[in-house]
Amino acid sequence: MEATEKKTIMHEEIGTKKPCSSCKWQIADPTNPLRGQCTVNRNAMGGVWKRWIADVANVTCSQHMEGKLSFREHV
Ligand code: SF4
Repeated sequence: MEATEKKTIMHEEIGTKKPCSSCKWQIADPTNPLRGQCTVNRNAMGGVWKRWIADVANVTCSQHMEGKLSFREHV
């Protein structure tokens, strides 16, 4: 139960292959690109998130796939 919950919540995962830095929901902190902010306002669950990311390279969550950048998003 706890493990499942952890996946949906932003969490640290050292060396993750799906970091916040490659997620479109992430906005880099202009003064420190290693930090950022995650703003999700149209995820599948309809939730709204706005939270700080302390380390964009080693933090992820299960919304990463949904937030993955794709060509369609650049239209
Ligand atoms: S949706 Fe998840 S993986 Fe994407 S920036 Fe937010 S916390 Fe990181």
